[in-house]
Amino acid sequence: MNKKGHVLNAILLSIGLGYLLEPATELAHAPATLEMIVLVGVPITLGAMVPDIDTEFGKHRKTLHNLPLLAAFVAFPEIFNNLEYVWIGVLTHYVLDVAGSKRGIALFYPLSSHEFGFPFGVAVSSKHATVVTWVVTGLELAVAAAIIYEVPQLVLEMGLQSIGY
Ligand SMILES: [Zn+2]
Repeated sequence: MNKKGHVLNAILLSIGLGYLLEPATELAHAPATLEMIVLVGVPITLGAMVPDIDTEFGKHRKTLHNLPLLAAFVAFPEIFNNLEYVWIGVLTHYVLDVAGSKRGIALFYPLSSHEFGFPFGVAVSSKHATVVTWVVTGLELAVAAAIIYEVPQLVLEMGLQSIGY
């Protein structure tokens, strides 16, 4: 996917995540929702820009398109208490490249240069790239909603069961 696609994906995803994390159930709550969208949206959008820096430095779709880099961005806030949410941008960049475009990414680089991708993506230059970006973002938000709403419920139920309810 090109830069336009990645920025569109990051912004749409951030708006969706902002609503999921801080739902505006009434108008009075809208400022809090907007604040959450900005809070997650700026780092996610910056994170989504990171992988394609490897078009200039290193090997494109390899050097900054791999799981070790994602793990580093996940670990960074834990270690340094900084750069929260940037990893979500890096992750969504990978998802869009793997699911939305023909060419895959080298998930296990530098251990392996093999590029993994789904066979049904479109070419980066395709006129369908924007539609694919919307579809992929929608699926990501469905997964995020399931995690945000279902997982706590599941954990609660498991906890209740474990103490005999
Ligand atoms: Zn990329």
